[in-house]
Amino acid sequence: MQHLPLFADLKNRAVLVVGGGAVAERRVGLLLEAQAVVTVVSPDLTETLAELAAEGRLTHVARPFAGDSIEPYWLVVAATDDHTVNAAVASAATAAKRFCNVVDDPKLCTFIMPAIVDRSPVTIAIGSGGLSPVLARWVKGVIETLLPARLGALAELAGRWRVRVREQVPDATERRHFWERVVTSVVAEHAFAGRDADAERALEESLAMFRSDDAARRGEAYLVGAGPGGIDLITIRGRQLLAAADVVLYDRLVSAELLQYARRDAELICVGKTPRRPSISQKQLNRLLVSLVRSGKRVCRLKGGDPFIFGRGGEELEALAEAGLKFQVVPGVSAVEGCAAYAGIPLTYRGVAHAVLLTTGHTRDDGTPEFGEFQPGQTLALYMGVAQYGEIGAALIAHGYARDTPVAIVESGTTERQRVVRTSLGSLGAAQAALDVRPPALLIVGETTRYAERFSWFAPSKIEQYGEEIADTRARVSY
Ligand code: SAH
Repeated sequence: MQHLPLFADLKNRAVLVVGGGAVAERRVGLLLEAQAVVTVVSPDLTETLAELAAEGRLTHVARPFAGDSIEPYWLVVAATDDHTVNAAVASAATAAKRFCNVVDDPKLCTFIMPAIVDRSPVTIAIGSGGLSPVLARWVKGVIETLLPARLGALAELAGRWRVRVREQVPDATERRHFWERVVTSVVAEHAFAGRDADAERALEESLAMFRSDDAARRGEAYLVGAGPGGIDLITIRGRQLLAAADVVLYDRLVSAELLQYARRDAELICVGKTPRRPSISQKQLNRLLVSLVRSGKRVCRLKGGDPFIFGRGGEELEALAEAGLKFQVVPGVSAVEGCAAYAGIPLTYRGVAHAVLLTTGHTRDDGTPEFGEFQPGQTLALYMGVAQYGEIGAALIAHGYARDTPVAIVESGTTERQRVVRTSLGSLGAAQAALDVRPPALLIVGETTRYAERFSWFAPSKIEQYGEEIADTRARVSY
């Protein structure tokens, strides 16, 4: 670690800023927010700094830096555009053993100013060792979007309750569990939404409940959609609940990289199902889920795509509801949305397609397929069933679809292995076999699949054609 991050208490402490331009102005702004007593040495000031001086919020010494004594100051900032002056300030500060920040000159700095995410009293400092402030600001942007705007309200609430909670939950580990729950509970939701009185009340209830020792009431299941593959396609709420869980039950289709967002001490259990080869039956899984929640655990059931689209989320909720346990559901980007977007295939398109049917390529037990008669202007999205593409093509043709209906198979959509195979319904089975299409793949049937080439944008994606040339958008059929 090149720099140790510290949070300095500068309240009522003297800080020297040399320079009065725009860069100095930003530094002075931050220092004043930290309630430092700021002296600016500079022949001239920006308008804003001059106003602050006129209001008495900083002391202006209206002349160039001239070897001024550094002794009275806790910190020093050199922010002139003259390298020699900045270097002189830095060496004076070093001689006096004061930390000094030299704007845009990491070599002369003995401290650097981080990018800050301010949710006071929670503050997050991000540094790049002074090498790439732009990168640090980008990280700041990412963190800003992840954190609720009113995060500070929750920290203040926790501060008010700290002593009481310590008295009522004397065991340190138990207490940590209590606070971990609060952070992701309705208490936090109230606090983030500005409902302070409700937050207080909910915290009081949570504490009473926690102490009542009814484990089942403490447990909760989060049914979270992980998205179709690309790890940045999970929702913010999904990631927050994943990070809060004691146990994560994840599917095989969930990217392993996503699991890094789980707590380090969380138990990770793969309950993945391989097509036709369940590693654990749905019944066993439901039982496991119920028993974990009943023992008081917060369980994140992380599912590929969306939990309610061919995700068997309904069955899992049924088991939880039956047992009277708490749960939440977080939607995810389903394969249909992910594959369509990343393959450049609009699912609806004015004048070309006005309806989308999400269905499955699997057949029912009696062998009949799940889809109905051909409907003009309808896009079909078929989940699963890669091994039966031949039968599916034939069945659709038997249901009134033309043999030359254009289709696209999106294999491993949204990941760096994405491949799009364009063919026609009549060649579907042959294309699957010849090009060795493997699950996970989503089959999209309909006129808008012709756009895959024209709207292709996702860099690693490959597009392959099979069979007779499939005409592109110029030959599109309108309904
Ligand atoms: N709940 C999931 C679907 C689970 S069923 C969702 O909403 O997406 C599993 C099927 O989803 C796979 O057989 C495949 O048809 C589809 N699928 C999931 N991820 C996919 C991906 N990255 N690319 C293509 N198809 C995918």
